[in-house]
Amino acid sequence: MKTTKKELIKIISRILLCMVFFLIITSAFGILFMYKSSVKEESKFRSLYYTSDMADKYLENLDNHKKKVLKIQDDINQQEFNDKLEFLEYYNREILTNEDIGAIYGRYFFDEVEYKSDGFPYEESEHSKIINNAYSHELMCLGVINSDRQFALETIAYVVPLKNNDYADSIILFFPVTDVVPEETELDLAKYPMSEMILVCSREGEILSFVEVTNNQYDLHIHSVLYDKLVTIIGDKELVDNLTYAVYSGKDNAFDFSLGGVDYILSASSIRNNGLTSFSIITIFALSKVHSIGSSLTDTILVLLIIFSLLIIGVLIYSIVTRNKIQRIKVDNDTHSVLNIAKEDKFVKAANDIIIRNPATTFAIVVADIRHYEYNLEHLGEDVIFDGLKRVKNLLAKSLQLEETMGYLNNGRFVFLIHYRDNDILAERIRNMVLVAGSQGFKGGRTASISLYGGIYSTDKGITPNVNKMIELAISAEEATEYPCDFMEFRMYNETIHESVVQNDYIELNMEKALEHKDFKVFFQPKQSISTGLVDGCEALVRWYNPEINDYMQPGVFIPLFESNMFIIKLDHYVFESVCQYINDAIENSFPLCPISVNVSRITASQPDFCRFYINMKEKYNIANNFITIEFTESFAFEDYKSLRDTITELHQHGFKCSIDDFGSGFSSYNILKELPMDELKLDRFFIKQGFSSERDLMVLKSIIDLGKELHMKVVSEGVETIEQFNMLKSLGCHTIQGFLYSKPLVVTDFIAFLNQKKLY
Ligand code: C2E
Ligand code: CA
Ligand code: CA
Repeated sequence: MKTTKKELIKIISRILLCMVFFLIITSAFGILFMYKSSVKEESKFRSLYYTSDMADKYLENLDNHKKKVLKIQDDINQQEFNDKLEFLEYYNREILTNEDIGAIYGRYFFDEVEYKSDGFPYEESEHSKIINNAYSHELMCLGVINSDRQFALETIAYVVPLKNNDYADSIILFFPVTDVVPEETELDLAKYPMSEMILVCSREGEILSFVEVTNNQYDLHIHSVLYDKLVTIIGDKELVDNLTYAVYSGKDNAFDFSLGGVDYILSASSIRNNGLTSFSIITIFALSKVHSIGSSLTDTILVLLIIFSLLIIGVLIYSIVTRNKIQRIKVDNDTHSVLNIAKEDKFVKAANDIIIRNPATTFAIVVADIRHYEYNLEHLGEDVIFDGLKRVKNLLAKSLQLEETMGYLNNGRFVFLIHYRDNDILAERIRNMVLVAGSQGFKGGRTASISLYGGIYSTDKGITPNVNKMIELAISAEEATEYPCDFMEFRMYNETIHESVVQNDYIELNMEKALEHKDFKVFFQPKQSISTGLVDGCEALVRWYNPEINDYMQPGVFIPLFESNMFIIKLDHYVFESVCQYINDAIENSFPLCPISVNVSRITASQPDFCRFYINMKEKYNIANNFITIEFTESFAFEDYKSLRDTITELHQHGFKCSIDDFGSGFSSYNILKELPMDELKLDRFFIKQGFSSERDLMVLKSIIDLGKELHMKVVSEGVETIEQFNMLKSLGCHTIQGFLYSKPLVVTDFIAFLNQKKLY
């Protein structure tokens, strides 16, 4: 007996040791990861600092133009011309041929008519850009593409509005770009030793000048439109979209990306002129260069130090935990002898004997648990607990009648075999047990009351399974918390519980086989864009196909159980791979296709290597970026939004979109919305039902939709069943709906037919 106890302790210690090492290693990686992201953040900051420093340099050049242009504007506004000829003479002499001004061409506009187009060959599209700006009567600077020069952006134009002039209401002056960005760059490049390349772009995104490449592996010498060029180099359309947005809106921003295993920082700073951004400086820096000029040694030491301290903490935790565990095991093993009560095996034998001796009697197995037993054990200590248990046991034993027996299972759980005559008598017996236990209490430094709850199985249906099974069923009645209690806090095993136990047994017995046989089927429910009326993606929803009855089991039945037995991880992975395969098939067979959302359970999402699987699978099937959205439930986000934030960042970096599902079903928190960079907000269907009942509810719904939009999320409403709901959501500004009104979840062939009918391709 003693050796088995020791072995048990040994095994547990080993498991614990493994767990602690695992913890240390994952934490070390976690810290490394955190460290890496902080390095990225810091590098972005530095990169922006350098980029805006460069922007300032160019701004001086641009300012010189502006001064000249303002002077011309002033001069013309001051003058009175007697006729058009006089104006033109001034225009030619003072502006176009005056070398100090440096303009190479000029044009003027009057009443929206352009005059004197003297052969400056800019592009058609540029022409309208210039004219539009000329009509806007605002002083501004633009980059112009010269079509003679292979789309190089070699000229900049200044639009100069004039006041009360009879012959022109604005003139446009063209300057050579080298005035702003000299060919021999003025930048002291030694000051930016980390530079990979620097581009100056117009607000529209054309490359104005290509300044410096120390590591010219991208062949950017061909002047082109910045956007296409960067998409080709970086291969991440969303990132380039974000950069373009920054350039266009005149915001400074930095992003990180990887290429061929090397991390880079891409940043943009604007050269603002006249309050408007005319140009932006865009740089690509290798992260290693930006971050660590000579600091890699300190980094290594820092990381080693972190790992070392983690090791020490790990060893400490290990020793404390093992000591505690050993004590715990001692408590559980000793309880029976201290209480002088039968263990489970002895109880089962004794109960069995009684049942055999009394074939005409109906019995009940009662399992009785002490509420908060573990907590009390931890806080009051084993002596206090033993003392309380002993008193309770003695009193309960006194209440036993002839041919009845009791035992102790574990962790504050007693078991009884008592006679069962009818429910009233049983109720009385249970009431007595509860009162007897309640009259006692754990009496230590502080006292804690003892309250009992439990489950009952009776043999009154004429079925007498073996005692082990009866105990198991009594426990399942105790645990069937979705049903009401029958006697005090005791629940009697009944038909309903029976059905769910049978169902759960069936599920647990068959789930692995069903996965192997591919009986889990993915359905697709299309979503509809409110504004266009077109298909706006779909959600993958799993069902369990039972070939014997040719029917599907709904996820609401099996997912809660899979979450408790962890099978959900396998199922979520399976569903995701099926979705990837489906996308592949659709592309190969030219089926219509739309972006797909997949659900992940909180259990799956909490695995330490959660992102890896999804990223690997996406790469394996070569799925395009931003095609797949991962849905996390609001309740999971609420529980653990800090780690979810990192998960989202990682998923974003690998081309996934993220959605917050069932929003409004739990503790909806605006904070979560603000903290988590989700791409999509899915309003729960119950929320929508409620949301329509009063003016006040509508206001709340509207403000959530507005908030989602402010945070640049796509707002989707689920469970839309009626046209009234659709119209209401439309008026509240919701983007997209999902629900039976548009379509039920469809089996894949029907889904393809649905998309075909909507003529997507
Ligand atoms: P969910 O993610 O909120 O999915 C939407 C549910 O609403 C689906 O239930 C869908 O059939 C149902 N629904 C759609 N439109 C309407 C409507 O107009 N009216 C009503 N009353 N219901 C509508 P379903 O398919 O039974 O899925 C239930 C839940 O099971 C899902 O809720 C999701 O949480 C979970 N689930 C489904 N597939 C997966 C999966 O692959 N992995 C994980 N972890 N969970 C899944
Ligand atoms: Ca969902
Ligand atoms: Ca949902």
